[in-house]
Parts: sequence; structure tokens; C-alpha cells
Amino acid sequence: MLAFYKRLYPFKSIFNWLNHEHVPTKLFTNREFAFTLQGDVYLRYNSFERADELKKQVCALNPTRFEIGPVYSARPRDKKTVRPANFTAQLRELVFDIDMTDYDAIRTCCAGADICRRCWAFIAAAVRVLDHAIRDNFGYKHLLWVYSGRRGIHLWISDREAMELTDEQRRALVGWLMVIQGGKEMHKKVNVRQGSRTLPPSIKSALDPLATVFGDLILEDQNCFESEEGWKALIQLIPDKAVAESLAAKWGTEPMRSSEDKWDDLKKEVRKFDKGTAKRNALQAAVEDIILQYTYPRLDAEVSKHRNHLLKAPFCVHPKTGRVCVPVDPAAIDSFRPERVPTVSLLLRELDEIAVAPGAGEDAGGEEGTGEHHSDWERTSLKPYVALLDRHVAALMQEVRQAKRAAPTYDASW
Ligand SMILES: [Zn+2]
Repeated sequence: MLAFYKRLYPFKSIFNWLNHEHVPTKLFTNREFAFTLQGDVYLRYNSFERADELKKQVCALNPTRFEIGPVYSARPRDKKTVRPANFTAQLRELVFDIDMTDYDAIRTCCAGADICRRCWAFIAAAVRVLDHAIRDNFGYKHLLWVYSGRRGIHLWISDREAMELTDEQRRALVGWLMVIQGGKEMHKKVNVRQGSRTLPPSIKSALDPLATVFGDLILEDQNCFESEEGWKALIQLIPDKAVAESLAAKWGTEPMRSSEDKWDDLKKEVRKFDKGTAKRNALQAAVEDIILQYTYPRLDAEVSKHRNHLLKAPFCVHPKTGRVCVPVDPAAIDSFRPERVPTVSLLLRELDEIAVAPGAGEDAGGEEGTGEHHSDWERTSLKPYVALLDRHVAALMQEVRQAKRAAPTYDASW
């Protein structure tokens, strides 16, 4: 890990991303960093003046990972000497966490910590829907998606308006995006409409693409309703008792019917009622709600609600998989393969190969501890991921520059 931090971790890019400018501002200097050391030692309320100071400390501690928290009203390292009233979380990226754990009840290919190409499709669908929902409904532009290194994905939103959201506003915003709610004991997890009225426009617009996902992923690939447990869960979501009983009787005696067959059976039952009747409307609404329940993003709301929630920094290494938490392009999310993400051991091997290649090694060595190897990641498979972050940061910085030019006092409150 030490070689990874010394030679590969893109501290400069992370600094720029958190700071929005090249000259350090409170966005960086008042920012909390928390380190997890070997043996589960947890060090909170660290803060740094510059990127190289952060790097020096990371290299000295060699943490298994580190997390990023909010921007406080004072420097986190001074927490013990400032009055509690003068130490409050003020700004923070709006963050979201989507984890495969929340899909365990519906995925059929893997369980527990495992993830494969097939169940990654749940995460991919969630990314597409959430990315659009947030851009279209809230107007945020600076969204950074980061693979968690194992079986989930994080979203960091750095727009100024998002950074400034209070906890209360964050709760409201997340509540608005929480279409799936309720624990194991609750069968119906989608309750976003009044009776059988039409869906709110924001969710309705997501329904068409999700219907495609439902067909490909739920019915065909995952075959979620093939098992008795699977189709019984579906039956629970049918509001008409007679329809539910007739389908249960049919599926109980024909266990070989595929998920697609069963879904067709349900649709046939719906069509038996005339359009516009209360029963037809209720069943039609139920069909839409089922599609949403199986495909709409499942969010870990607690992560998003509080400014002082800590979230693992991009480019940390997941201790179980050794994979680097790399940024992901949402436009290419369907072709993203978690298993192809570089591991720390692969990257260090790549560095070794550079060192022995003729004509290479001009960066090798360096000063102990603070040696800068700015370009080392460029010669490894980490390069496209750092480049992705740098492009993201360039757009963010450009907007901040323009805002400052338009209003010279822009920085006053930050
Ligand atoms: Zn799987």
C-alpha cells in the first residue's frame, strides 16, 4: 500500500476535485479526513493545508483506507481547541451509495459478497436512472460516479447548490428519490402514487427504460419468478384477490413456467377487465409498481442525509478485493466490468516492469516520504481512471472560475 500511495495515488487530482480551485480554500483546509489503520484503528478529524501535506500524512500512516467528510466552520485538526458551537459541518458534496446488498432479495445469480457480470446489471440500471433523475430534476451537472471496489457504487455531486444543502434539504431530496422503501417484512415497497392514479411525472419518465430492463434482466436473465419463492413474492404484489388466487393456482401446478410466461399470464389477467374500469386501473398501476420495485435504484438513504457522513475516498483500495475505487463514466456503465478494474498488485507489477524496461526509471527512487511521482500512474492501467477524474475536475473548475469572474465576491462565504 505504501508504494501505491507514494507513486500512484492521484493526490493532486483529488485535491483539485475537493477544492474546486488550484489555490487551497476552506473547501480543502477545513475538510475532514478520517484514516482507518491496520487493526481497525480509526483516526478522525484530520485536516490539511495542501495536497502534499495530505500525501505526506497518508504515506506516514499507510492507512488501509481513508474517508472524506464535510467542510467544517473551523479546521477539523483544531476541533479540540474550538468551541463546539464554532465547529459545525457546513458544506459537503451530496453523496449517494448503491450497494448490491439491497438487491439480495431479487437477484438469483449470486448471494452475499459475490458479484458477477449478470448482477452488475442491477447497478448499471440504477446508475442510468439516478444519473438522469438527478440531472433532469435538480439540474446538477458535476456528478462523479465511483466504483466502491467490491459490489457497489458511490455518487458524489459537487455543484455549489448541492454542496450547500442543509441536512433537512438532503433528507427531502433523498425522500423524493426513495421509490423503494420498507424492509423484508414489507412486500409492497413502491408507494409513490395516490390509489391507482398515474405516477408522478418524474418517475413516469423513468418507467419506459425500466420496462426494458425489467424484460431483459428480471424476466429473462435473472428469471426472478421461476422459483416458488420468486413467484410467490410476485403474487403478493397483485391487489386483486381473485386474480392473485387464479395465478397462484396455475403457477402452483405448472412449476416449469418461465418468468416471461408468468408475466404474460399476469398481463392477460389484466386485459380481461375493460379499460377505464377501477379494477383494470388498479391492476395496471400494480404492474407498473412491480416494474419499479424490481428495477428502480435502491438507495442507502442514511449516507445521503447528513453532511457529516464520511465516505471512502476515490482511488482507495478495497481491502477484500484489492481493487482500486475508480471513477466510472455513467455513459459507459453497461460495459463496465468490476473484475477488470485494476488491483493494487497489478499496478505495482506494472510499475516494476517500467523500472526494468530500458530507458525507463527516470522517476524511480525519489526523495523518501515526499518523493513526487506525478507521472507514474500515467504509465499504468490506472491512467484512464485518473484522466476521467481530471476531465470531471476541469469542468468543475471552469464553472467556478466563470462564477468568480461574474461575481468577484463569489468566494467570500467559502
Ligand atoms: Zn451475480
